[in-house]
Amino acid sequence: MHIHIFWDSLAPPGLQLPVSRKISSIIDIPVTVSENHVRMMGYVDGRKQIDAQVLLDSIQAYKHRHNMIVPLLLVVQQDLFKNGNSFVFGLARQSVGAAVVSASRLSNEYYGRDENDDDLIDRITKEGAHEVGHLLGLEHCCDPECVMFKPDTLDELDRKKKMFCTTCREHLATHLISG
Ligand SMILES: [Zn+2]
Ligand SMILES: [Zn+2]
Repeated sequence: MHIHIFWDSLAPPGLQLPVSRKISSIIDIPVTVSENHVRMMGYVDGRKQIDAQVLLDSIQAYKHRHNMIVPLLLVVQQDLFKNGNSFVFGLARQSVGAAVVSASRLSNEYYGRDENDDDLIDRITKEGAHEVGHLLGLEHCCDPECVMFKPDTLDELDRKKKMFCTTCREHLATHLISG
């Protein structure tokens, strides 16, 4: 069992290795990373955002075509939305093991603050581990410091630790054992 990450060419360059190592240490499963091979779809001109559901369709089609069983996380730069939400940090489709995370709203620059790679690495790591957590069967958690807490703002994301709470960790172990 391992997780694979596709790092899109527009996503922050040079951060794929630290992010994949940190996600691996949070979920305690090997993580591999490569350039993205999924067709970017779902861009909506009027909103300058990508419809995350359409992009998940594209990931799903790729996985199907390549008979790819392992969970796949795509990291992109473009801002994401889904129906009913002005934006989403990321989205997962557990049934097919496909997830996407956007780095767009995870950078300090987006909020007019000074650029900092360590902040960006931490945030992509937490969002990535969160979506992978969904792919491994976890639901949202009410512990604001747990990776599976659903953040609505950057501050809520920053408040989370780079780890699962005890309850989520136990759930994860059960899911992984039962396959
Ligand atoms: Zn979630
Ligand atoms: Zn939790």
